[in-house]
Amino acid sequence: MSDTIEKVKCLIIGSGPAGYTAAIYAARANMFPVLYQGTQPGGQLTTTNDVENFPGYPQGITGPAMMVELQQQAERFGTDVRDGWVTKVDFSGETHKVWVNETTEIHCDTIIISTGASAKYLGLPSEQKYLQLGGGVSACAVCDGFFYRNQEVVIVGAGDSACEEAHYLSKLCKKVTMLVRRDEFRASQIMQTRVKNTQNIEILYNTDTEEVLGDGQVVTGVRVKNNVTGKEQEIPATGFFVAIGHKPNTDVFKDYLKRDAVGYILNEPGTTRTNVPGVFVSGDAADHVYRQAVTAAGTGCMAALDAERYLAAHDASFQVNTATNY
Ligand SMILES: Cc1cc2nc3c(=O)[nH]c(=O)nc-3n(C[C@H](O)[C@H](O)[C@H](O)COP(=O)(O)OP(=O)(O)OC[C@H]3O[C@@H](n4cnc5c(N)ncnc54)[C@H](O)[C@@H]3O)c2cc1C
Repeated sequence: MSDTIEKVKCLIIGSGPAGYTAAIYAARANMFPVLYQGTQPGGQLTTTNDVENFPGYPQGITGPAMMVELQQQAERFGTDVRDGWVTKVDFSGETHKVWVNETTEIHCDTIIISTGASAKYLGLPSEQKYLQLGGGVSACAVCDGFFYRNQEVVIVGAGDSACEEAHYLSKLCKKVTMLVRRDEFRASQIMQTRVKNTQNIEILYNTDTEEVLGDGQVVTGVRVKNNVTGKEQEIPATGFFVAIGHKPNTDVFKDYLKRDAVGYILNEPGTTRTNVPGVFVSGDAADHVYRQAVTAAGTGCMAALDAERYLAAHDASFQVNTATNY
């Protein structure tokens, strides 16, 4: 345990678009934010090549480059960006306590949680290979579908999100083959009906993914197996989309914050307030619906403004930065 306890006005946990946007606003509002990056500095976008839908980049930008710019913008206004992983919290008392890397203890007036969520993958070596190469494996149809216009793609998943993503892809791609492991969907009837009624979506039930095929650089197809008949087939495809869910990175908060059944932190509708006063949540850690960089950034802004109002109401010494025009 640490010898000295640091006191922080605004602690931001996570360095994705939500965390850095919260930092830009908090720093400009005299909150002297300290931001811990976690094990994935820059967040999920550092795992993708092209980001073409974030406003302000007419030519597009790579995910890693965009996140470096966001970090620089947060640092320009004085954000203290640090390496470190939050391993424990205690929100039981008036002072919110956070431990970084097991040892460093920090007492926080406000906390903005921006820990994001991790897409689940099948875990096949071939899937991971083409994911790392940026060669045609994706967990986000809305983000990457555009790159497969007029091409044939495969999507795996059986829930509402999978149906929604398959339907989204069907409007861009020539053909979408949907792989469902069981003999039925998990999705709601209305979502099932939508994919079943879409002409260029072919649904293969009782079907497991055996291997993502490729030429060493990019995906060329998927080898699948019917788990009832044992019959294998190869489906030509340039894109392989995985839509089997996300895991929010929120377990460290589970003893104190209300979460839904999957682990998304629950916020008061229309705000970023959690059930613990002074603790706010932004980005994918609370969002199972939109899951986009721009929405994460938007809620990061909201969280900083909510935290500033909280400080103004609870800390007589806190000076709202009237000189700063947000
Ligand atoms: C392959 C891929 C491509 C995508 N493409 C696009 C796109 O083109 N356009 C788009 O808008 N969206 C895209 N997205 C979605 C987008 O990346 C996310 O919606 C966005 O990054 C969410 O931002 P966030 O700040 O909430 O969290 P994240 O980006 O997930 O960042 C979470 C951060 O929290 C940190 N963290 C987690 N736990 C801890 C802890 N205990 N202690 C300290 N730090 C912690 C992590 O290290 C990380 O820095 C894509 C996603 C993926 C996976």
